[in-house]
Amino acid sequence: IDTPLFAGLNGDADVSFEFFPPKSEKMEKTLWDSVITLEPLAPRFVSVTYGAGGSTRERTHATVARIAKETRIPAAAHLTCVDASKAEIAQVAEAYWESGIRHIVALRGDPPAEGAKFVPHPEGYASAADLVAGLKEIAPFEISVAAYPETHPEANCPQSDLDNLKRKLDAGASRAITQFFFTAEAFFRFREEATKAGIDAELVPGILPVSNVAQTRKFAGMCGAEIPGWMNDLFEGLDDHPAARQLIAATVAAELCRKLYAGGVRQFHFYTLNRAELSYAICHLLGKRPEGKAEEKAA
Ligand code: FAD
Repeated sequence: IDTPLFAGLNGDADVSFEFFPPKSEKMEKTLWDSVITLEPLAPRFVSVTYGAGGSTRERTHATVARIAKETRIPAAAHLTCVDASKAEIAQVAEAYWESGIRHIVALRGDPPAEGAKFVPHPEGYASAADLVAGLKEIAPFEISVAAYPETHPEANCPQSDLDNLKRKLDAGASRAITQFFFTAEAFFRFREEATKAGIDAELVPGILPVSNVAQTRKFAGMCGAEIPGWMNDLFEGLDDHPAARQLIAATVAAELCRKLYAGGVRQFHFYTLNRAELSYAICHLLGKRPEGKAEEKAA
């Protein structure tokens, strides 16, 4: 199946957006402008990341709490096992539950030092699957976990990574959000293998609109995602053309979403990097319209 251009996309896809906690007042404003821009698209949820080693603990909490208080978007908090005892994690999770946050993105996390190996805290959780089980004992959170279409770099093999994903879901997670990837085939292969491994939970592709290949390459190396050669070629010579880079970023990500949609995907998670415009444009191409507008048009 294929969908010609973007015709026939009727906005029935569900979308969610990921943000990171801002470090300065200026970044706070950028983030907040983005949240306000994306809110009318009625996302299923937005999530806020947790910095390495819990370094953003307070900022993540403050950002999630503000979104929950000032918007109608269900807010999810990322939480990792790095450098934290089970008791400390319980404290963070309980504080979320008390402030009305019901959705946690549960992750193992990576050590703060680049390239260092994850070593569990002596009284902490050893993996995301353990964290999911622990969180479920604290409160009946809705839990999302991470998945890797191109396999997590530390996994022994793709099958053991899938087994691990299944453990996370069996422990109580209800969906997996994937690491970013750049070919629809990578996702379809992964979906097929996951089904064979007995995984029937929602697999939500994580979409990263890339406007800076050099920066993305650095990050991709650490997280097991592959940047295809054609992507380098696309951005070559555009260092001094930020607007062209933005247009290309939207085109490439929208084309990926279109193929995923044609292959039956109806949930998309966008890594916004705290900027709304690319994600907004891609959602628009997917047929998403601000809440109320679609009904007005149909009336
Ligand atoms: P796990 O599921 O625990 O897996 C880690 C590795 O161990 C995998 O290779 C897995 O196959 C292997 N493994 C686990 N258990 C076993 C076992 N019993 N036997 C054999 N192998 C096993 N990082 C942050 O610091 N903050 C964030 O906010 C954040 N958000 C993210 C959001 C998404 C959607 C994604 C995809 C990633 C995010 N990350 C974040 C990155 C993530 O923390 C890293 O990728 C980390 O290295 C792995 O986390 P995990 O939850 O997938 O770990």
